[in-house]
Amino acid sequence: MSYLSVSEVESAVEGLAKAHPGLCERIPLQHPTFERRTCHALRICRKSLSTTGILFTGSVHGCEWGGADICVSFAADLLEAAATGAGLSYGGKSFSAWAVSSIVNGLDVFVFPCVNPDGRYYSQLQAGIWRPLTPSAAAQSVWRKNRNPVSSGGDASRIGVDINRNYDFLWDFATAMDPAAPGASADPSKMDFHGVAAESEPETKNVAWLLETYPHIRWFMDIHCHKGDVLYSWGDDQNQSADPSMNFRNARWNRKRGLPDDAYREFIPSADQVMARAAAERFSAALTAVRGTVYPVKPSFELYPTSGTGQDYGYARHFVDPVKTKVFAYTLEYGLESRPEENTFQPKWPVMVEIIREVSAGMLELCLVARPSPIFDRLRFPIPLIRLWRRLWPWEIWGPLRRPAVVSLGIVALILAAITRRRRRRGC
Ligand SMILES: [Zn+2]
Repeated sequence: MSYLSVSEVESAVEGLAKAHPGLCERIPLQHPTFERRTCHALRICRKSLSTTGILFTGSVHGCEWGGADICVSFAADLLEAAATGAGLSYGGKSFSAWAVSSIVNGLDVFVFPCVNPDGRYYSQLQAGIWRPLTPSAAAQSVWRKNRNPVSSGGDASRIGVDINRNYDFLWDFATAMDPAAPGASADPSKMDFHGVAAESEPETKNVAWLLETYPHIRWFMDIHCHKGDVLYSWGDDQNQSADPSMNFRNARWNRKRGLPDDAYREFIPSADQVMARAAAERFSAALTAVRGTVYPVKPSFELYPTSGTGQDYGYARHFVDPVKTKVFAYTLEYGLESRPEENTFQPKWPVMVEIIREVSAGMLELCLVARPSPIFDRLRFPIPLIRLWRRLWPWEIWGPLRRPAVVSLGIVALILAAITRRRRRRGC
């Protein structure tokens, strides 16, 4: 057993959809890659009536092989446990059968294991998975970008676009970012080349298409390596919650973003920051419970300044267009820096298996955070009413008051139901 090849990822997705037709469906992504590959995602949900979705994406960067394997393993475990009415255990972290069933009953779990199959194929080919490794090929096994040659001018070293710098969030870094901290590159020979236009690449379009097509997706985690961090927005600058006008849409701050401890910081509402951080800490605590690994939680900017990332695009959409859903978005950097065997793009498979287990525990915990309150399931409120209410007054704006508010509303609803029942009896 080792890392999945591109075709094995696809056949795993197909096999899971066939094995669990009542629990999941296979979604073809709309934009074929440059090498004409059509990708597929899984949508895991028992009823397809959920008001909330969560999206996991893996292997956006070709050389980060484990992302796809994490996604496939997580989906397989979740589906098998739900189908057999079992719980799940990873080392010191367990999830009850009730927790597993509440995830598939109450949440739409979207899993898009391999966003960049062309880059993965190239990286695995160069790494000698199918033929002997040469030193020059070994260097190419850390291939990060896709394989689009449009900006290469025939030079093989200039092929490809970094998908995670191609999203429509401060994509035009030359205008938006400080020249000393651009967060991406306009040079096709660089590994963080941002492409010819925002969302120019089919891989980027596929992720954006999922967020557009399923507007109830409210949570998004993009799985990368290697560092050992759980990152939340923003990545372009430090966070601040005092001045809403100091934000990525305000041209007044152009060319001033990206440097620490200066006048510009990116606005995030304090309730969002509390919610984003609290959910990430739940992820991190579940991961730690498996075998003691600790992934710190922090804003992306603390890693390095970025522009055009999927995480910030996911969270930024509702600021640009208030009709769009607010999405709490994360970047996971699996693989602990302090463990040499993990501090590499392609850890040896037995090491990767341990990482897969602990990250899967974190993903399940994040699903439990994202899952709408089971109170609504039990009271059997009409689903359209819940949708309307969530649209008008989403939980996310409640911040830390969310749980007491849900409990209070549940109690009020139960009292109202009891009063109504007693009146009906008297009427008889
Ligand atoms: Zn990456």
